[in-house]
Amino acid sequence: MSRFWSQIVHDLTPYVPGEQPRLADLVKLNTNECPVGPSPLVLQAIRDATTDALRLYPDPTATALRQAIAACHQVRPEQVFVGNGSDEVLAHVFVALFRHEAPLLFPDITYSFYPVWCRLHGIGFETVPLDADMRIRIEAYARPAGAIILANPNAPTGIALSRAEIAALLDAHPDQPVVIDEAYVDFGAETAIPLVASHPNLLVVHTLSKSRALAGLRVAYAIGDAALIEALTRVKDSFNSYPLDRLAQQGAIAALSDEAWFRQTRSLVMENRAYLRQGLERLGFAVLPSCANFVFARHPMEEGARLAAALRERAVLVRHFASPRIADYLRISIGTRAQMDRLLSALSEILGRA
Ligand code: PMP
Repeated sequence: MSRFWSQIVHDLTPYVPGEQPRLADLVKLNTNECPVGPSPLVLQAIRDATTDALRLYPDPTATALRQAIAACHQVRPEQVFVGNGSDEVLAHVFVALFRHEAPLLFPDITYSFYPVWCRLHGIGFETVPLDADMRIRIEAYARPAGAIILANPNAPTGIALSRAEIAALLDAHPDQPVVIDEAYVDFGAETAIPLVASHPNLLVVHTLSKSRALAGLRVAYAIGDAALIEALTRVKDSFNSYPLDRLAQQGAIAALSDEAWFRQTRSLVMENRAYLRQGLERLGFAVLPSCANFVFARHPMEEGARLAAALRERAVLVRHFASPRIADYLRISIGTRAQMDRLLSALSEILGRA
């Protein structure tokens, strides 16, 4: 390869998602999927939408879905943008809202998609260190910024900021877009959506991948001032005017209609999180306080990489990150009670407690 081409490939260092192996009987706790299936109403809606009408293009504006989302969050449909998962919504956000002279700010430890997307689009960024307790400190963002993006709860720590802290951040940066990626908000954190009415610079991103168990359907949305939504729509229309296929639009509407299923799933995940946390602490782990569907935990005597590899040998997959400050941690998705038991007994065997 010529130097020119190898430089281009080098500049496009991709985001590396968690692996999706094909082994049966694997305890898969590495990509924060929901441990139970989606609402039966979703499956029915997708079956109902599977007709000859698939020969027709879907609604490019996803109007019915945007109305359903707007009703859920008490905003107007013009304040809702939809896309194929939050990764796609965020991809549009980076292009539409983050091209400034001043840098985009985000934490040094956060969703690894953000720096990848900055490099891809030549967006200048600065990372802001988490404090000694792995928390985001809002005061540390009092510096020149073109825009700010935070995951709340943060990933992979699981620690959440309060709505009051987000409001303080918005007030300190009234003229910059502030994007809050709330992929995990339903598992115990406060959403910033009520702040949209008073803060035209706020955009909040939600996904149906986690708390609605629809990672495979690829549906997410952003809520903000109509002007921000219009900016995202212009980028989308220049790229692909059909954001969601017919099945995804119908399935998502059904998912949002099943409050009972949603509440039950959320409680299950939160109960199993408390159970996992206790089990890990009994084995000597330090577990960060999580508001997400995963925990971030470290054993004081063991290397994270060794633990992750030993778990893998026992058909239990968790996520390990090589970057130095978090190399001793494991990020473990919340699974069923049986999966949590398999993980805990594998760990106790590895730690010589069995
Ligand atoms: N934001 C954060 C913080 C995430 O961890 C993830 C999931 N890996 C996403 C966004 C993307 O989720 P999805 O594209 O499935 O909506």
